[in-house]
Amino acid sequence: MSKIDNITLHPALLDIVDYRKSGLSLNHIVGCPLNCAYCVRHFFDNFDLKKPTILATDEEAVNTLVSHQFFIPHLTPLQLFNRATDPFLPDVRLHTHKVLQLLDERAFTNLMLIITRYKVTAEDMELLESLRHLRVTLLVTYSGLPDGEIEPLSHSITRKSIETIAKQKRRTKLILYWRPIVPGWNDDEETIRHTLSVAEQADAIAYTGLFYRPEQENYFDKEGIKIPYELTHRRKILPAETEARILKLYNEFGGSTPLFRKTSCAVSFAHELPDYNGHYGIPELCNICPQHQVKRCTAAYKIPSTEEVTTLLNMYGYETDFEIDDHHVWTIGLGEQKRYHLQHTLGFQIWDRGLPHLKGQHGRAPIGYPESFSDPTI
Ligand code: SF4
Repeated sequence: MSKIDNITLHPALLDIVDYRKSGLSLNHIVGCPLNCAYCVRHFFDNFDLKKPTILATDEEAVNTLVSHQFFIPHLTPLQLFNRATDPFLPDVRLHTHKVLQLLDERAFTNLMLIITRYKVTAEDMELLESLRHLRVTLLVTYSGLPDGEIEPLSHSITRKSIETIAKQKRRTKLILYWRPIVPGWNDDEETIRHTLSVAEQADAIAYTGLFYRPEQENYFDKEGIKIPYELTHRRKILPAETEARILKLYNEFGGSTPLFRKTSCAVSFAHELPDYNGHYGIPELCNICPQHQVKRCTAAYKIPSTEEVTTLLNMYGYETDFEIDDHHVWTIGLGEQKRYHLQHTLGFQIWDRGLPHLKGQHGRAPIGYPESFSDPTI
């Protein structure tokens, strides 16, 4: 694998640890040849870097992660290589193995989320199953889109990975990551039924829409890729009508794999835990969740006290006014990473006054929702 002259990279990519909603993310390799048209690397002006390129050794990367101010042993959910490469590319997979082994040797039991669409082999699964402490989930991205300009990688490769994982998993969990769902791309009945049938091998399904920001808009324009949205948005887009169609067909399909709107809900369910993001505070998210999982989240749900929040803010050196209601802690201007840090520490939703989620939109962009869906959600 090649080393890189750091000056050529977007500054955000030089920060190898960053906090995302689903976990604290380690990314010391950047570059990917898979060419998915909607890739988030467009945000970092990094889409043209096709060769995986290493920014730190695995030992350095793990030390940076576990000494990070946001890392809490056994509690912080972790993610590996989910920003700028695929963890099972030929040049990357041995680094994935090494990082997992280094963390496991230190007996960390944190949840570890690994997203891939590439080849997961029997040898990869042997390594994952040899771990004793980390609680690993493989989230296999599968959209049901035909092979082509949007997703050049053959879906037969991803389906084979799902089969391999399903056959060998004992302590590893498998999520079918159904994304991006886009009207006109992959929301026809045949594709939805096909995707649901593939998902029968998984422990859970998490579904979501498309990030469509100006960077993707430019790339789609350049490549002549048709998209049903006229506007871009900071949040993912999944229109209400499309979601209703998915849920209707899911119910008609009568499969056995539970379906979740939120990644952390699917991962938590698979590990028999309450949702670590405290989504139970947004009850409208839970109407598709299995009853025994709802009970788990209900039992674990605890509204933090003013003293608890104050203590955490002081301990971490975070400055914000705050207000606690039955569903969230409202803060001002902390930024995403600090909010996620508090959210995972408390298992309770931490929102920003300036960025409320709107009722019925499940934290998505307002595109594809009627005007009436405009009240802040409870
Ligand atoms: S009960 Fe609600 S918060 Fe808990 S896992 Fe289900 S959907 Fe998520």
